[in-house]
Amino acid sequence: TVAPRPLVVEDLRVRYGGVLAVDGVSFTVEPGRCLGIIGANGAGKTSTLKAVMGLVSRSCTGMKLGDVDLARVRARDVVRHGIGYVPEGRHVFGGLTVATNLELGAYSRRSGLRERQEEVYELFPVLAEMRRRLAGALSGGQQQMLAIGRALMSGPDLLILDEPSMGLSPKLVGQVLESLLALRERGLSVLLVEQNAWLTFEASDTCLVMENGTVALAGSAGELRHDERVRRIYLGL
Ligand code: ATP
Repeated sequence: TVAPRPLVVEDLRVRYGGVLAVDGVSFTVEPGRCLGIIGANGAGKTSTLKAVMGLVSRSCTGMKLGDVDLARVRARDVVRHGIGYVPEGRHVFGGLTVATNLELGAYSRRSGLRERQEEVYELFPVLAEMRRRLAGALSGGQQQMLAIGRALMSGPDLLILDEPSMGLSPKLVGQVLESLLALRERGLSVLLVEQNAWLTFEASDTCLVMENGTVALAGSAGELRHDERVRRIYLGL
């Protein structure tokens, strides 16, 4: 196992032509902790994650995972540096089995593949039961677990998730929460983007609220869930 390392992002900007989608965002994901980012559609959450993964061009004054300077790492090498990414919409390979989907997640790290696969099956027993089934036959919640499991196959110490609750029933959102808490128990750091504020507050230690590409509010999950504005706008209370 790798020594736990913080992810530190300073003054991040992402621009698409004339649109400044992320406008000076800074945050730290402490080792073994979960940072949640909530915000409305178009607030810049996905762009922030893509910027960390090197999938969009961006500028910043700092972006480091431990002593690795992510600003200088090419997108295809980010996973090798210990970051797992679960993109929005899951994107599992429906025509391939559960087991093969997991194996594909280990493309950057073949050694210890079987052990990591067993760990994923231990974390998500339902995937073990369905290992020979086609991924396309799984329910939405099971596909989300498979997408998370696949990202774990590279042996990350930081997992980045983009709206894992999207399109899931409340019961399955509960399952996603259980998975996130189980990952935390195992010492993984998590960066979670969500529109579901309830899930974010349950899963996270600290949270950011993004509005128009900036951080409108930041604090502990406990503080933010009691904030008047957050309750009204994001929890609908
Ligand atoms: P969502 O919940 O819809 O994913 P978000 O908070 O993740 O929203 P982003 O997807 O990061 O927001 O989008 C931020 C802004 O950037 C929006 O105004 C969006 O229209 C714009 N944007 C995103 N991707 C592109 C792109 N490839 N080209 C141009 N504009 C884009």
